[in-house]
Amino acid sequence: MEKRKESLEKSDPFSDTRRLTDNASPDADASEQFGHATTEALKREVERKLIQIRKALTRIKIGKYGICEKCGKMIDTDRLMIMPEATVCAACEKKK
Ligand SMILES: [Zn+2]
Repeated sequence: MEKRKESLEKSDPFSDTRRLTDNASPDADASEQFGHATTEALKREVERKLIQIRKALTRIKIGKYGICEKCGKMIDTDRLMIMPEATVCAACEKKK
């Protein structure tokens, strides 16, 4: 995930310093704007996932991994297979 974040930062057209010096056409600028918005959205998504994974890792350390942080019941193993970073059970997730 950290690697992905790095590559996303590199693909962000706004981090390309050359764009400050060249006179891009309005069309190119619009696509840069779009690329920037998409990269920002992806970055937020990756960051959100990283926080969730760190939380799950902390729960492994304190021996509470796989236990719902809301109701204290065991999280369904099928759910953990699909979402290893889950810290709440499916029922509590729905209630959120
Ligand atoms: Zn729960």
